[in-house]
Amino acid sequence: MTPQPNPQVGAAVKAADRKHVFHSWSAQELIDPLAVAGAEGSYFWDYEGNRYLDFTSGLVYTNIGYQHPKVVAAIQEQAGKMTTFAPAFAIESRSEAARLIAERTPGDLDKIFFTNAGADAVEHALRLARLHTGRPKVLSAYRSYHGGTQQAINATGDPRRWASDTGTAGVVRFWAPFLYRSRFYAETEEQECERALEHLESTIQFEGPQTIAAIILETVPGTAGIMLPPKGYLAGVRELCDRYGIVFILDEVMAGFGRTGKWFAADLYDVTPDLLTFAKGVNSGYVPLGGVAISSAIAETFAKRPYPGGLTYSGHPLACAAAVATINVMEEEGIIEHAAKLGSEVVEPALRDLAERHPSVGEVRGVGMFWALELVRDRSTREPLVPYNAAGEANAPMAAFGAAAKANGLWPFINMNRTHVVPALNITESEAKEGLSALDAALAVADEHV
Ligand code: PMP
Repeated sequence: MTPQPNPQVGAAVKAADRKHVFHSWSAQELIDPLAVAGAEGSYFWDYEGNRYLDFTSGLVYTNIGYQHPKVVAAIQEQAGKMTTFAPAFAIESRSEAARLIAERTPGDLDKIFFTNAGADAVEHALRLARLHTGRPKVLSAYRSYHGGTQQAINATGDPRRWASDTGTAGVVRFWAPFLYRSRFYAETEEQECERALEHLESTIQFEGPQTIAAIILETVPGTAGIMLPPKGYLAGVRELCDRYGIVFILDEVMAGFGRTGKWFAADLYDVTPDLLTFAKGVNSGYVPLGGVAISSAIAETFAKRPYPGGLTYSGHPLACAAAVATINVMEEEGIIEHAAKLGSEVVEPALRDLAERHPSVGEVRGVGMFWALELVRDRSTREPLVPYNAAGEANAPMAAFGAAAKANGLWPFINMNRTHVVPALNITESEAKEGLSALDAALAVADEHV
């Protein structure tokens, strides 16, 4: 039954939260979490009866929206049959989920190591690469996010790493291409691509190729700003990895499972990595699940030699049943094709129109149901609307933008000077238009700071 608004219950939920829940990424006394009563499809609502259209998909993971009845039923059915069973055993929902995932990942990524989330998928991808090559270092991009556990945060480029980075984990960072804020003084996509590849190759050479286990990249960097790599870049990285015997890891925790209008973003670029990490959309986060899809060459390394790593809940039967149901629903309901079509025919033209009318929009970029608007103070200089990693007063313009969106019934995704349009992949056309018109109103508030 769908929970209904009730302000008294809401106040009690909020009071208990404030007393006992320690929230992630937050100063505990400076936050005011909304008490949420329920959610369905692309909407959620609070205990006061305010309803919001979710343009964030939670943390970009509820790819089929909230409470999809078929997935809820599959979880209930699995709970009735077998709630849990340890990872060393062959379990129906686990082997079926692995088969469905392996059949959809590119190339020969045919073995699936299950984890509980994205960060631990990255941890294990790095360990697999180091053990496979016998080399210590990992190269990762400055504009990246790979997760909040220690190895994953060390491999991250985003400022959220600063407070936790041990600086000793053998990670060397490089600049991946991003034409709008080019580090390479490039004026065209071709120049950006060529110079970013030159920069990466010289980084490899100066670090010593024989010391580098892996290059890890988000296929399309998500949290850092949805920057689609120029044509040829990922193929170029694939070639460098082959030339220097380096494992190529694509992190598709956010971009995978339909977000870009393809099963995997790697399909957009026709590249096959050696390891591919996933989580979030694999089962819309209904039960925590992540994993690493492993190439046959790397799997072969551990054919006779044990892989030294595992997790108690690896491939949890409930999570795997949710993954099987989610993948089947995405196929039966044509959700990925819908996301690709709605993205290119409705969302993209609407966002380009917003950019024409609102001087605060510096750039629109994205694909599928994966879009970013970069907000600027000045279009000609591209000065961001708020300073890099702004907090408190410095962040006031983005806070005002967010408040205006919420007042118009839209829950927006905000990171630094960007808002991302990342709704559920099965959002309807009329819901998308409703959200885009609320975004239009909120951008008028951002414009006041230009
Ligand atoms: N990699 C990427 C690309 C991500 O976007 C995220 C989460 N936003 C992670 C890894 C970490 O996933 P999790 O929060 O499930 O550990």
